[in-house]
Amino acid sequence: MLTRLAAPEHEEVYRVEDVAAGLEGYIAIHSTALGPAAGGLRMRLYHCADAALEDVLNLARGMSFKNAAAGLPLGGGKAVILGDPNRDKTPALLRAMARAVQALEGRYWTAEDMGMTPADMGEIARETRFVAGLDKGRHASGDPSPVTAAGVMGAMQIGARAVFGSRDLTGLRVAVQGIGHVGWHLARMLSENGARLVLTDTDAARLDRAAADFGADVVSPGDIYAAVADIFAPCAIGGVLDHDTIPRLRARLVAGAANNQLAGPDDAARLAEHGILYLPDYVANGGGIINVAAEILQIDEAGPWVAGRLAAMQSTMERILSRARAIGVTPADMADRMIGEMLLRPAV
Ligand code: NAD
Repeated sequence: MLTRLAAPEHEEVYRVEDVAAGLEGYIAIHSTALGPAAGGLRMRLYHCADAALEDVLNLARGMSFKNAAAGLPLGGGKAVILGDPNRDKTPALLRAMARAVQALEGRYWTAEDMGMTPADMGEIARETRFVAGLDKGRHASGDPSPVTAAGVMGAMQIGARAVFGSRDLTGLRVAVQGIGHVGWHLARMLSENGARLVLTDTDAARLDRAAADFGADVVSPGDIYAAVADIFAPCAIGGVLDHDTIPRLRARLVAGAANNQLAGPDDAARLAEHGILYLPDYVANGGGIINVAAEILQIDEAGPWVAGRLAAMQSTMERILSRARAIGVTPADMADRMIGEMLLRPAV
C-alpha cells in the first residue's frame, strides 16, 4: 500500500494506495533534520496524479521552512489525498491514510489542512497516534486560527516599526483580504489596537457581519489592492502578489496569514522596487503550527509555551529584517537563506 518513490530533495516520499478504501494519495517527508516531520493532510481534486505529487513535495518543503522559522523541533512533511472532500471522503478512506501514517512510525505527524476537519482527525486517530489538531483529549490544541492571527499581528507591529517608525498601529489603515478563520481574529485584534480597517471577502454575508462588528469599510474583492491603506494583509488565498496587483497596492507594508502569497520568484523584488516591505509569509503565519506543535510535543502548560514560541518567532522576523536591510536583499530572500542554513546545520 506504501510505495516508496525516488525524490532527490526529500528524505522519503510514498505513493499511498488502498483500492478497497478508494484511497489514492502521497506522503512526503522533506526533512527530519530538526525533528519528526509535521504538516497537514490535504484532500482536494487534482488534474492528475503528477499534480498531486508536485503539490505534496512543495508543501512538505514549505513545512520544513515554516517549522524551522517558528523555532520548533520539527521537520517538514505533508500528505495529500486525491479526491473531492465533499463527495469522496469516507471513514474507511481516512482510516486507510491513517494506517499509512502509522506505518512511518512517527517520522511524519499529520494534522488538519484543506478539505479536512477536526472530526476527520478524530477518525484518523483511531488508527494512528501520530496525528494532531484533535478537538478532544489532554493535549488537544483545537482551532489554530487565533494563534495564527496573534502571530501575524506581532509580525505586523515589527513591520510597522520598520516602515512607519513605531509598533503602534493606532490610526493606521489596514486592508484585510479574507475575513475567514484567521482574518476575522486579525481584524478584531487590529480594531482593538486602534487600527482602521478596510475589509474584503468573497462571502458577502460574512463581510457585512464583519463591517458591522468592527465598524470597518468594505470593498469588493477586486478593489482591495488599490484600497487606500497603510498595510495590506492577505488572509485568503495564495499567489495574490504578482505583476498586476503589486503596482496597484497603496500600502507600504504587506503582512498576512495566507500561504505562498508571492505568485512567482520575481515578486519579492517587485515589491521592494515599489517601496513595499513584504514580511515573508511562512515566518509571519507560523502561529498555527506552533499551536499544533504544543499538541505533538505534548506540552502540559501550552499557553505560556505557545506565547514563548510566538515571541521567539517575532525575534526571528526582526533578525530577518535587519540582516536583509544590512546587505540589501529582500526579507523573503534573507528568510530563505537563514532558514535554509538552519536546515543544513541543525541545532544539537
Ligand atoms: P478560511 O477558509 O477560514 O478563510 C478564508 C477566507 O477568505 C474565507 O472567508 C473566504 O470566503 C475568503 N476568500 C477566498 N477567496 C477570496 C478572494 N479571492 N478574495 C477575498 N476573500 C476570499 O481560511 P483561514 O483558515 O482563515 O486561512 C486563511 C489563509 O491563511 C489560508 O491561505 C491558509 O492557508 C493560511 N493559514 C491559515 C492558518 C490557520 O491557522 N488557519 C495558519 C497558517 C496559514
